[in-house]
Amino acid sequence: MHKTLYLKFILAYILFGVFGFIVVATFISNMTVDQCSKNRADSLYSEATLIANTYASDLYNSEVSLDSVQKQLAALGTFMSADIYIVNPSGRMVVNNKDAANTDSEVYVADFDPGLAGNGKNYFTDNFFGMYEDMRLSVIAPITGDYVIRGYVCITAPYSAVLSEANSELNISYLELIVLFLLSMIILIFFTETVYVPLRRITTATEQYAVGNMKYRLSVDSDDEMGYLAASLNYMASEVDRKEDDQKKFVANISHDLRSPLTSIKGFLEAILDGTIPPEQQSKYLGVVLSETNRLTKLANGLLTLGNVGSTGMILHRTDFDINEVIRSVAASFEQTCRNKKVAIELVLTGEHLHVNADRERIEQVLYNLVDNAIKFSHSDSVVRIETTERHSKVFTSVKDSGIGIPKNEQKLIFDRFYKTDLSRGKDKNGTGLGLSIVREILRAHGENINVVSTEGVGSEFIFSLPLSQEDQ
Ligand code: ADP
Repeated sequence: MHKTLYLKFILAYILFGVFGFIVVATFISNMTVDQCSKNRADSLYSEATLIANTYASDLYNSEVSLDSVQKQLAALGTFMSADIYIVNPSGRMVVNNKDAANTDSEVYVADFDPGLAGNGKNYFTDNFFGMYEDMRLSVIAPITGDYVIRGYVCITAPYSAVLSEANSELNISYLELIVLFLLSMIILIFFTETVYVPLRRITTATEQYAVGNMKYRLSVDSDDEMGYLAASLNYMASEVDRKEDDQKKFVANISHDLRSPLTSIKGFLEAILDGTIPPEQQSKYLGVVLSETNRLTKLANGLLTLGNVGSTGMILHRTDFDINEVIRSVAASFEQTCRNKKVAIELVLTGEHLHVNADRERIEQVLYNLVDNAIKFSHSDSVVRIETTERHSKVFTSVKDSGIGIPKNEQKLIFDRFYKTDLSRGKDKNGTGLGLSIVREILRAHGENINVVSTEGVGSEFIFSLPLSQEDQ
């Protein structure tokens, strides 16, 4: 594609040169010749009129001699590089600038026609009534007296002089055209640099993307549409690349998280079946198998929830419900776990009832995941505090623990699927790394946010917002 675009531009450039040349060689050439002829004719005609009104009139009025007029005409003819004739209306030559005055001989200008100049022109070009071999540019001015035409002053000059003047002017036009053509090369260079080269790079990049090389990066730094297009393409490629990486990691993580419990379940069951594990120890290992099965169920449920988000987003069933009540019931469900781990849950709730507008079941899940993490990562004999506050038509729920905390550089990553901090690995063998990403998806679907404030070794606080119900507003 890019090749033809460039060829088209070169073709247009050459056409521009050729047409420019043709225009100068035809129209401009004709115009120049016409203009030069007109200029020369104008000056000859004013000279002819001057002669008609002075020497010629004086001659016809017999105020000067034929001889002196001839001398004057000879001088003028030399000065103008032209031949001057005074002719009677009948065509009889009275005097001219070349021959000495002679009243005896009668020389006639054959087919003398003073009306030859016409069509808006005051001159005509031919061989001046057959008197010359070459082309002439001639003018005829009448000599008038007593309201009649008494004769004519004719001036005729070689047409070749006019043509050579026109040619030298045309040469300047050709020179101008060549300079313009060379200067317009700047446009070609400019086009090559700003459009063609970036376009070629962009095309190469798209070809690379088409074959799946999303790591390919474009280098177009111009601050214009091309640069913007290249930057957009780079961004698109990096996003696709990141998504692909995420996808790969996601599949690798699922495979890993499915394989390890399945391997241990298979191992224990085989050992029980082939008698490696004696009957008295079987219940202990069946307990491990049950715990692994629970982990698989949790993983499957988590994936199901995330899978449901799909491209259209999570479908919510919003109602007005009392968040305080949901918090109390979630806290109650952890009673046994808390007792085992010697962790207390403290509720600091705003008001008796606090209604929010959200999907109750999903928010229950959010709270469950947050409280589950808070207890899991708490030290024994510590307190998990759940607090609700109302501000600007929003209800903020905070789940705060004084457990192991989350390192600063990992705080953004914990919401990614399957992400577990290094700190937590020893403490939590059953975690799937999906809990917080489910929390984030649910809150995103509500158009709300979740933030984490945590200090390594001190504790963590997760705060999320929900809209206050219309009624409570
Ligand atoms: P999991 O099911 O493994 O807990 P989550 O997505 O809920 O997965 O959490 C991801 C990771 O974030 C956890 O493995 C842990 O490293 C870290 N994390 C989450 N909550 C806390 C907390 N309250 N205190 C410390 N670390 C936490």
